[in-house]
Amino acid sequence: MNIWGLTQEEIQTVLEPFHVPSYRAKQIHRAMYQERKTDFGEMTNLPKELRGRLKDTLTIERPSVLDLRRSSDGRTAKFLLGFSDGATVESVLMRQPYGNSICVSTQDGCSMGCVFCASTLHGLSRNLTRGEILAEAYVIDDYLREQGEKIDTCVLMGTGEPLMNYENVVGFLRMMHEKEIFGMSYRSFTLSTSGIVPGILRLAEEGLPVSLSLSLHAPNQELREKIMPIARKYALPEVIAATKAYAKKTGRRVTYEYILIAGVNDGLEEAKELSRLVSGQLASVNLIPLNPVAEAGLKRPGLESIEAFSAYLSKQHIPVTVRREMGTDIDAACGQLRNAYRRGR
Ligand code: SAH
Repeated sequence: MNIWGLTQEEIQTVLEPFHVPSYRAKQIHRAMYQERKTDFGEMTNLPKELRGRLKDTLTIERPSVLDLRRSSDGRTAKFLLGFSDGATVESVLMRQPYGNSICVSTQDGCSMGCVFCASTLHGLSRNLTRGEILAEAYVIDDYLREQGEKIDTCVLMGTGEPLMNYENVVGFLRMMHEKEIFGMSYRSFTLSTSGIVPGILRLAEEGLPVSLSLSLHAPNQELREKIMPIARKYALPEVIAATKAYAKKTGRRVTYEYILIAGVNDGLEEAKELSRLVSGQLASVNLIPLNPVAEAGLKRPGLESIEAFSAYLSKQHIPVTVRREMGTDIDAACGQLRNAYRRGR
């Protein structure tokens, strides 16, 4: 049995058949998450006889790094991680002006089917466990430690729909927050969703003040359905009501993500519709010029359209940012490194 990812209480339960005092669970928890040991043999504060018995039945397994690519400017590092059952995920480190931000995946593949996205091309293989998502953070933090740095913020914007893997995602957030693990405040997390309404409403009640990003990508139901099949299940008015409820309950500003796709949603008509939709909310808009995925056949708009779209929103007093591009020289766009690996297999 692999105990990586278990909480201290869960380790204690696993240790029951070993008939050891309860402080052993705390020692193992500490050795695993703080001292980062993956071998019971190295846990020298445990009796030798116990180390042997633990080794016979338990393992501490973290994923292997199948590929690590660094962008030429050194600001982005992309990790392709492999789990023992063959699942592969991407995790990314982005050195931002405000600190080291990591982007983690929550599923191996994705079932959402968004037409512009590389992660959903082969559907969903499976959910990642809480421990597997946590391991993504540890792999990147180990890398940062070697350079005397640490993780400052975390976005759940990698492969997968986090709200379709609710329990594991919330479990991951709670562990990252634990003092003995990373001790990160909930405010340093941003969860991005394609608009799973029941998940948004449940998260609002969870008491974890994480920031919410909503992948909007279209200002009306008709267009949204065309590019995001999940929109047929959760209609736009419902999704907007859920994000408003989230903002109200948590006091956190919501970000609407809006990919700009040439000739699809980047016209002034859409800019107008979008500003009508968003105005008056505790929200901002993040424009993301499309990272083209070969299979999708969609194009990124030219700089002029991007600027015109952004300028229109600003004029309507809507807080707007245009996402800076990072790491495109290392396939850092969502899911592209993972797909390259799958093709080569
Ligand atoms: N499933 C979640 C989180 C993963 S996607 C969601 O939909 O939000 C994270 C963000 O990357 C989303 O806003 C998504 O729409 C965006 N994205 C996906 N493919 C992209 C592409 N080719 N170019 C730019 N952004 C993309």
